[in-house]
Amino acid sequence: MSIHTIPNNYQPSQNLLQGKNILITGAGDGIGRCAALSFAAHGASVILLGKTEEKLASVYDEIESNGWPQPALIPLDLNTSDYNQYLTVKKAVEEHIGCLHGLLHNAGILGQRTTIADSKPEDWLKVMQVNINSVFLLTKALLPALSHDEKSSIVMTSSGVGRKGRAYWGAYSVSKFATEGLMQVLADEMSLTNIRVNCINPGATRTRMRAQAYPAENPLDLPTPEQLMTTYLYLMGGDSHAENGKTFDAQ
Ligand code: NAP
Repeated sequence: MSIHTIPNNYQPSQNLLQGKNILITGAGDGIGRCAALSFAAHGASVILLGKTEEKLASVYDEIESNGWPQPALIPLDLNTSDYNQYLTVKKAVEEHIGCLHGLLHNAGILGQRTTIADSKPEDWLKVMQVNINSVFLLTKALLPALSHDEKSSIVMTSSGVGRKGRAYWGAYSVSKFATEGLMQVLADEMSLTNIRVNCINPGATRTRMRAQAYPAENPLDLPTPEQLMTTYLYLMGGDSHAENGKTFDAQ
């Protein structure tokens, strides 16, 4: 698997995402929150999807108070929702927003850090549901809502342990391998369309999930989500229209 980085010295223009409608999962916290704010600051109308409504509302308020394009908010638990709820999301997008130009699959959970032998079956299934099954379900539901006239971008979130397995990373690692696989299969299927599909590995980043995985680490030693945004902007904006089926490192 070759791993890519964005072009050297790439600088997104301030209006890179003007007129684009972009849905972000896990938009209430961590990297997803930062991506939503950054996309909005670059002109996108963002649709904030996530589990905790208060967190989404706080991102919504921040976007409004900055005078960026009007956002929308969709509370949805990716662990417990069935496919009909994903179809309801698609209907709401089409009725209230029209079409999508971008979809960032960012939501994720860590699950247990333990051996395969000690993994609890219910934990395994939950990690798979949130980290990969929901990515399939939401992508399938939203494909008809993605613009085929203008170029659209689907970005999935990977991890270093989704490229090389590591002890004690269990379901999380396997779900990220599956994410890379889903990206490759879909990208190949989309290769003759205006829809491109790529993965981002954020790398070690100062968020709640990282602190959960490495409680002894000093978070101040890690890059913030803000420091990764150039890669996220590149993959969402038109400058990456020729990229398809690739996996990128944000660091
Ligand atoms: P985070 O701070 O824990 O944020 C995760 C986001 O996912 C939150 O907004 C959370 O919403 C949402 N989420 C979790 N379960 C959900 C569910 N059942 N339904 C809907 N939304 C749900 O994590 P992060 O570090 O920003 O991670 C973002 C992505 O980057 C993940 O895919 C992660 O695997 C990947 N990643 C992170 C790192 C890192 O070092 N941070 C490294 C490699 C890859 P609530 O807050 O409402 O629960």
